[in-house]
Amino acid sequence: MDHHYDIAIIGLGCAGSHVAIELIKQRPDIKIVVIDNAAAILHKKWSFWEKGVGKWDHIILKEWSRGLFKTDLDSINLDMNPYVYKSINSVDFIAFAKAKLKESNHSTFINSTVIDIDETDSELHAINHSDGTVHAKLVLDSRIDHQFFKDQKAITIQQHFKGWTIETTKDTFNPECFTMMDYSLKDQGTTSFTYILPYSSRKALIEFTYFSPDLVEDTVYDTFLKRYITEQLNITDYKIVEVEKGIIPMTTYDFNQHHSHNRYKIGTAGGWVKPSTGYSFKMTEKKAAILVRNYVNGLPLLTDLFTKRFSIYDSSMLSVLRDFNKDGPMFFHRLYKNNAIHNLFKFLDEETTLSEEISIMKSMTSLRMIKAFFKSLF
Ligand SMILES: Cc1cc2nc3c(=O)[nH]c(=O)nc-3n(C[C@H](O)[C@H](O)[C@H](O)COP(=O)(O)OP(=O)(O)OC[C@H]3O[C@@H](n4cnc5c(N)ncnc54)[C@H](O)[C@@H]3O)c2cc1C
Repeated sequence: MDHHYDIAIIGLGCAGSHVAIELIKQRPDIKIVVIDNAAAILHKKWSFWEKGVGKWDHIILKEWSRGLFKTDLDSINLDMNPYVYKSINSVDFIAFAKAKLKESNHSTFINSTVIDIDETDSELHAINHSDGTVHAKLVLDSRIDHQFFKDQKAITIQQHFKGWTIETTKDTFNPECFTMMDYSLKDQGTTSFTYILPYSSRKALIEFTYFSPDLVEDTVYDTFLKRYITEQLNITDYKIVEVEKGIIPMTTYDFNQHHSHNRYKIGTAGGWVKPSTGYSFKMTEKKAAILVRNYVNGLPLLTDLFTKRFSIYDSSMLSVLRDFNKDGPMFFHRLYKNNAIHNLFKFLDEETTLSEEISIMKSMTSLRMIKAFFKSLF
C-alpha cells in the first residue's frame, strides 16, 4: 500500500473536517490522508449564526430567527434578520466529512493516534501513528502545542460550561427563540450566564457558562443549573436526557509560532477560535476556505488568514474580562442594548468597516474598554 500523500490532516474535528471538505471540493485530484483517534465520538452542539440559507442546512438540528439577551433588570429581543442562529450536531458534521473522504478516490481516513512527526525531511514529513507511518508533503495539524498550556504571557480567559438537555412534562419553552445570554442568575463577581437552546416546547439545552480566568468544581455548574431551572424557568418536573461540558480557550496566545516549513497548525491549535467569543464553527469554515484557496493558488498558506485590527479588539475585550471579570455582565449589556444584533454579528464575523467598528466601540462608552484598547495597540 502506498503511504505517500500530498496532504496529511491530523484530527477530524471541526477544523480538520472543514479543511478536508474544502480540499476535496477544490482539489479532488490530490491525495489526502486524515488521521484521528476519536472522531465523532463526542456529541457537541456547534451553534453559529449566518445569513439565511447555508451550506450545512441539510444536517442542521434546529434554527432560530429570534433571540434574547437578559439581565435581572432588562430583556432585549434580538431580531436577527437577515441572520439565523443554527445548531448542528458535531457527530453529523464529522460524519458528513467522513462520507466526503470515502467518496473521494484519493483520500484515506485512518483511525489512529498520531505520536510524532519526524523532522528530518521537511519536504516529505513522516507522520508516526499508533498503527504505522504515513508520508506527506504538507501537514495540517489540529493538535494544540503543549507550550500553550504553560504560557503565562498571553491573556487567556476560559469559556467553561456545563449544559443539561432537559425534557419537561408540560409546554415550557418557546422553540422559536433562543437565549444568547441570561445574566439574571450569576456567580457573583464573575462573568457567568445561562444560554438556552430550545429544541421544542418541551425540550431544551440549558447551559451555565463562565467567561473567567479560573475554572470551577463540577458541582457549581449543577447548583446554578438547578437554580436556574426552578427559580428562573419555574420548572419543577423535568428529566435530564443529555449532559455536555466544555472548556474553550479564549486567548491572545500567538499560535503562529508553532507553524514550521510545510507544517501548519489548524483549528484551536492555529488560533482559529474567535478569542472574544469562543465561537469557532463559522470562523473555521471561513479560515479553511482561505487556507485551501491559498494552497490551490500557490500562495503562502497563511495569507489573509488574520486581520490585525480584529486581533486588537479581541485582545481589548479579553483584557477587560481578565482584569474586571465582575463587570462582564455590564459590558455585554451595553453591547447588546446599544447595537443592533446584525451589526454585532457582522463585527464578530470580522466583516465590518472601521467606522462601524468605532461606532460599536463607542457604544460601550467605558473608560476601561478604551484603556484596554490602547494597551492592546502596543
Ligand atoms: C461541549 C462543547 C460545545 C461547543 N459549542 C460550540 C458552539 O456552539 N459553537 C462553536 O463555534 N464552538 C463550540 N465549541 C467549540 C468547538 O468545539 C471547538 O472550538 C472546535 O471543535 C475546535 O476545533 P478543532 O478542530 O481545533 O478541535 P476539535 O474539534 O476538538 O478536533 C480535534 C480532533 O483532533 C483529534 N486528535 C487530537 N489529538 C490527536 C492525535 N494525537 N492523533 C489523532 N487525532 C488527534 C481529536 O480526536 C479531535 O477529533 C464547543 C465545544 C464544546 C466542548
